[in-house]
Amino acid sequence: MKETTLYICEICKERYADRKEAESCEAAHIKPKKLTKKMKFHPYKSGKDPILAYREVSQYPDWIDIEMQDGNTVRYKR
Ligand SMILES: [Zn+2]
Repeated sequence: MKETTLYICEICKERYADRKEAESCEAAHIKPKKLTKKMKFHPYKSGKDPILAYREVSQYPDWIDIEMQDGNTVRYKR
């Protein structure tokens, strides 16, 4: 029996067999500075063109949840 290790990007939750891939994925994401409760990112290798995918797909979140002053949380999508 063989045991395997998985590395999970803590930001988008994508799983990688390679540690460096997971580190690259985490490094590719840019998060809002504050007021964000939850957000959804794509893995850094999303899409066909890796350069385009890195810049256009994975860099910024698809949606973010922002907590408002009245305590409600509102989701904004791009
Ligand atoms: Zn990621």
